[in-house]
Amino acid sequence: MKETRNLNLPVVVVTLAFVSIVCGCKLVLPENESGLRTLPNKGLSRLEVSSDFYDNIYAFFGNSGLNVKPDASKLSMSWPLSTETVLLTRFGTPTIGLFSNENGGEVKLAYFHEAIDIRRATEAESDVVYAPVSGSATVINDGDPSSTDVSDYTVAVAIYDPESRLVVSLLHVRPADLLKIGQLTNVKRGDIIGNLASVDSMKPEFEKEFRHTHLSVVDVLNKKLIDPLNKFPQYKDTVHPTIKSIYITDEDGRRSDSLKTGALDIVADIFDRDLTSQRNFEITSLAFKISDDLGNTLKEVQKCDLTAFTEYSLVPSQHFDIRSLLDIGSALAQVSDKEWIGIKTDAANSERSFRYALTNIKSGTSGCHVVPDADGTITVPENVEFIEVFLTVYDGSGNSSKVTKRLERSK
Ligand SMILES: [Zn+2]
Repeated sequence: MKETRNLNLPVVVVTLAFVSIVCGCKLVLPENESGLRTLPNKGLSRLEVSSDFYDNIYAFFGNSGLNVKPDASKLSMSWPLSTETVLLTRFGTPTIGLFSNENGGEVKLAYFHEAIDIRRATEAESDVVYAPVSGSATVINDGDPSSTDVSDYTVAVAIYDPESRLVVSLLHVRPADLLKIGQLTNVKRGDIIGNLASVDSMKPEFEKEFRHTHLSVVDVLNKKLIDPLNKFPQYKDTVHPTIKSIYITDEDGRRSDSLKTGALDIVADIFDRDLTSQRNFEITSLAFKISDDLGNTLKEVQKCDLTAFTEYSLVPSQHFDIRSLLDIGSALAQVSDKEWIGIKTDAANSERSFRYALTNIKSGTSGCHVVPDADGTITVPENVEFIEVFLTVYDGSGNSSKVTKRLERSK
């Protein structure tokens, strides 16, 4: 059974907006941890993306009389800042947050980022935001859709693109004066639609460094989010992903670099980079095979698109547990010490990497899926001396890397 509760503490709402979940978010607390878990994820919560903000987009554009039957292949966006194509977070980037709850206890949570965060390379650059497409623009609130008492940080400029019939939403933008809540205004690609919102009231040292717009592509008809990144011809990525290491976690959730007997998870520590952002990101897909020295194939998964898990993150029936896809416990150490009014996140750490539990991914007839951690193990008997992992990883721009790793018993 899932235990859930809504986060409605104002501080939490604001801080999570920084890591760019639009709140009130639903926090899914740790549950039934007494059984076998091969990942060190005990005590972690996960965050389900709230649909409050997107519900406002669905309602406004769904009732606007505009044709919302999408053709995503027709979406082509220009970069909304006058700077290089610099990102803070991508679509599907696993993200960790740590904060103190009202009782003084520490909450550790993880989620997929469901948009791309576009920022400037330096705070000296212009914060003017330009329309990435021509179309019909409005201002959308996170919260009461009609309220005009809104914060720059929690409003978005949302533009209906008549070519693709998708809505491009730019959150954390102080809208230009011509744009109004509840009204549609025609804008042309490249028109000024606002400025990156300041969160000066929070007065953290790194506010300017992290000022950004959270850009989502919304399919109003199917209530679905689409990865925006390959819809920007300007965004270039020719950098291959890096596989840092492949390791084991055992039945007690302990990490090991050598082979053990029993039920094991195999975890690959990976990151990807692009040409301009100067920070590490997630990968988009992977394929692998694990075999033993006796010639048995222990597990094999064809190329699995991980962004599918994020694309449906607003569809409740599609929610799955991020704590089964990733070894988050081992990633807690990479959470930045920099605090954003009480929350710490690994999004502030440009060197972070992502630990994918290969053994919890399964091929199915309708593509790949993630199974609960306890169900996703391989079992290694005592007479196996080594296993081999053949892993290929891909980013969203067609770059890939391949590695064969032999995991042997310690001598
Ligand atoms: Zn964001």
